[in-house]
Amino acid sequence: MAIKLTAQHLDEIRRHGESTYPYECCGLLLGHVVSGEKVVAETYAAENAKEEGAQHNRFLIPPAAVRAAEAYARKQKREILGFYHSHPNAPARPSQFDLDHAWPFYSYVIVSVREEQAVDLTCWQMRDDRSCFDPEEMVRTEDRD
Ligand SMILES: [Zn+2]
Repeated sequence: MAIKLTAQHLDEIRRHGESTYPYECCGLLLGHVVSGEKVVAETYAAENAKEEGAQHNRFLIPPAAVRAAEAYARKQKREILGFYHSHPNAPARPSQFDLDHAWPFYSYVIVSVREEQAVDLTCWQMRDDRSCFDPEEMVRTEDRD
């Protein structure tokens, strides 16, 4: 599946990753599936619940925060399409930890941040057999006003 995001969504993810550096940021991508493509309507920032010492390479959105995001999405008549998080001082590639904690269908956007600068942004979807991630095509769409 491909995922459509605006320049503003990409900026929000990059800025979130820069603001939490050297720790990981995390959040959700909300929107709709339209004609077999995920169309992101908004990014939803979440708190990284991992203890401070592990936040540079781990992220965890606590179940209560996911439920809050789900409730918010339902109110907006939107679905959860995926998640984003940052990799401070590491490439924008999913780790084994990311694979172990991923679910099928969802998009996983990863932004690499070095010296407080977002340098690379990629998107992944886990294979249905959970063996690995495949790159997911990102399509830039026009900003809505
Ligand atoms: Zn990761």
